[in-house]
Amino acid sequence: VTEAHLARIEAVDEKVHAFLHVDREGALAQARAVDEKKARGEKLGPLAGVPLALKDIFTTEGIPTTVGSKILEGWIPPYDATVTKRLKAADVVILGKTNMDEFAMGSSTENSAYGPTGNPWDLTRIPGGSGGGSSAALASYEAPLAIGTDTGGSIRQPAAVTGTVGVKPTYGGVSRYGMVAFSSSLDQGGPCARTVLDAALLHEVIAGHDELDSTSIDAPVPPVVEAARNGSVAGMRVGVVKQFSGEGYQAGVVQRFNESVELLRALGATIVELDCPSFDLGLSAYYLIAPSECSSNLARFDAMRYGLRVGDDGTKSAEEVTALTREAGFGDEVKRRIMLGTYALSSGYYDAYYGSAQKVRTLITRDFEKAFEQVDVIVSPTTPTTAFPIGERADDPMAMYLADLCTIPTNLAGNAAMSLPCGLAPEDGLPVGLQIIAPAMKDDRLYKVGAAVE
Ligand code: GLN
Repeated sequence: VTEAHLARIEAVDEKVHAFLHVDREGALAQARAVDEKKARGEKLGPLAGVPLALKDIFTTEGIPTTVGSKILEGWIPPYDATVTKRLKAADVVILGKTNMDEFAMGSSTENSAYGPTGNPWDLTRIPGGSGGGSSAALASYEAPLAIGTDTGGSIRQPAAVTGTVGVKPTYGGVSRYGMVAFSSSLDQGGPCARTVLDAALLHEVIAGHDELDSTSIDAPVPPVVEAARNGSVAGMRVGVVKQFSGEGYQAGVVQRFNESVELLRALGATIVELDCPSFDLGLSAYYLIAPSECSSNLARFDAMRYGLRVGDDGTKSAEEVTALTREAGFGDEVKRRIMLGTYALSSGYYDAYYGSAQKVRTLITRDFEKAFEQVDVIVSPTTPTTAFPIGERADDPMAMYLADLCTIPTNLAGNAAMSLPCGLAPEDGLPVGLQIIAPAMKDDRLYKVGAAVE
């Protein structure tokens, strides 16, 4: 199986560019180790021998980790992220590291310092972002499983536009230890797959308490696999939020979403219309909170500790070397966010910008709490449009940010959400994603509903 996937990567990845690094030798060695374990009659891990594509934001001992940035070029981490460790303990075969928007900032993978990834459905279109590489690897059959991270939609939006499944677990459900930080109060790792059950099997392997992450939830992992094996919506109350519709939604996306709602009804769910007025402010709040946290997190890339160092010729001060390195190592979007975040956090502006955004965050959380008094899950389109052409929004940050309109409220509130395919848009033949949102620690509901409508 590993050899077949490595051959597939060799055959198509020149065109798709899902991978930044293929660990051919390492993958073959892991696969051989599984065979040997089996031959010795030892107990195998739950995903023994299954190949996986890992987003290049998770540290991997002895294997480069770039986060899609020049600033970490050449950095080889001396340790494994908790997610990496758990994958290895499950006997997963890690094929390599996948392409992503630099520091996970973007919705198209065009912000990668190593060039864009193509959407396997149409290579001239974006595979979503920031985890476009992971989802493209699934859609092109280069890997059956992948891992992503979702700060504002980076697992679900790529899943939607590549016709695959992606889950953002409850915040704190999957350890962030060794996951390079973008916006720590929003970042969440999660599973990507081609089916709901595959995602559940991977979810179970990576989730659970980790004492190395102070925000990790110390509670049993929700029964996601059991839920995925017993899909049903009979008797469930399913919410449709008014704010996830209107201007900017592509006709074919709306059509497929409405059909999904009808399917849910036909399968025995009760549909409830919901009003969540604060959701309209989600994007604005996110684009203050995420850049603020990023400006603080990315201060550690000072040219002294990791990767790139520019101008270290013995004539310059440490400050000058830091400045030259950050100038050369960070791309435009990362610089934009650092400047925005530094501004929003500066004294005199903190209350007006960051403080207001945090208040909006609370209002959004309350809207969800009220909604979940009336319904078991909420459904929406995952993204307002299907995959757009590479280059179309590259110079228009506002247009790019709109791709996460439906996914961001969940990150701000910290609850769980899934995107799964719900057909192709008639006008362009491209995949449409259905988003399912559940309350915190009720991740199993995503799988129960997802498996019913898949
Ligand atoms: N597209 C959003 C952003 O650019 C979300 C990214 C993410 O989830 N990592 O910040």
